[in-house]
Amino acid sequence: MINRVSFVCPACLGQVEQTATETECLYCGSRFRRNASGCTDFAPEASFDDHWTRNPEVRKAWLAIEAPREEEYELGLAKRYVLPLLEKLGYRPGSTTVLSAGCGMASEVDLLNGGGYEGWGIDIGNRVDCWERRTSLNRLARADIRKMPFPDECFDFVLSLNTIEHIGVVGDTDQVTPDYAEERRRAMHSLLRVTKPGGHVLLSGLTRNIPFDFGHVQDHGFVRIHSPWEPFLLNFSDIRKLCAETGKVEWAKPLPLRGFFSWTRLRHSPARPLLPVVDWLFGELPHFVYGWWACPFWIALVRKRPAEAVQSTAAA
Ligand SMILES: [Zn+2]
Repeated sequence: MINRVSFVCPACLGQVEQTATETECLYCGSRFRRNASGCTDFAPEASFDDHWTRNPEVRKAWLAIEAPREEEYELGLAKRYVLPLLEKLGYRPGSTTVLSAGCGMASEVDLLNGGGYEGWGIDIGNRVDCWERRTSLNRLARADIRKMPFPDECFDFVLSLNTIEHIGVVGDTDQVTPDYAEERRRAMHSLLRVTKPGGHVLLSGLTRNIPFDFGHVQDHGFVRIHSPWEPFLLNFSDIRKLCAETGKVEWAKPLPLRGFFSWTRLRHSPARPLLPVVDWLFGELPHFVYGWWACPFWIALVRKRPAEAVQSTAAA
C-alpha cells in the first residue's frame, strides 16, 4: 500500500520518523510513544475515559457484548451509507483519501482500505486498545480531533460520526465544560483544515431538541431524559452555525437517514420485522424533515469551499 497521506507532528505539523517504540518529530523534537500494536499516541495529555473502562467487570462485559456490536454497526454503516455516498460524490477507489475522525473500533477504516480507498482513522478513547484486530494499523493513531497529526488539506472526505457532542465535555459524560462552544469550534476548524478544498465532511448525531436520548445512557439506565436546550447534544442548525463560523464552508446540508442504522439492539427484539419498513421510510420523508429540530437524528454533509473561493474571500 502506497500512502498519499502520512502522519505529521500534531504540535508543529513537521515530518515525523518512527522507531520501534516512538514517533519523533524531526522539526520540533516532540516524541510520541507507540503502543504494543505499533499505533502512535499523539495525544498523551488528553484522555477520554469511556465509561466501560471504569472497572474490570464492566470492561469485560463491554468487550464481550458491546464491542462486537459496535464493529457490526460501523461495518454496516460504512457498507450501506458511506461507500454509496462516496460513489455518489464521485470519489473513486484508488484515488481518494478518507479520514474517520473518532473512528472508535475502526472497522470502517479496514473496510475502506479493503475497498481501494486510502482510509485513515484516529480516536482518543479506550477503543484504541481493541485495534490489534485491525489490518490497517499503520493508518490508525490515538489522536485528538482538535490537534490532528495530519498535514493541511490531505483528505478528500472526512467523516466524524456521532463524535462532536463528546468534544468539550467532562470525560465520557453529558456535562459540558465552560469552554465547550470554543472547543467545538476548534474541532470544526481542525476537521476542515485536513480536508482538501472542495472536499467533504460528514457529521451526524442525535438531535438535541428530542428529550429522549437512547445513545448516551451510561449513567442513565435505558434512556437519558434531557432538556431540549441542553448544551451536550447538537442539532442540524447548531452544525450549520458552527460551519458558518469557520468561514471555510461552501454549504452544509442534511441528508436522508436511510441505511445509516444497523439496529444492532432492535434486531434481536420483536420489532425486527418492522425494521426494513422503518429504514425504507427514513429515505422517503419530505426533505425538510432531515435536519429539522423535530427529527430525532441528523446527518450533515458539509462541503469545504473550493480553492478559488477561499482565495477570493482572503482577498476581500
Ligand atoms: Zn513537531
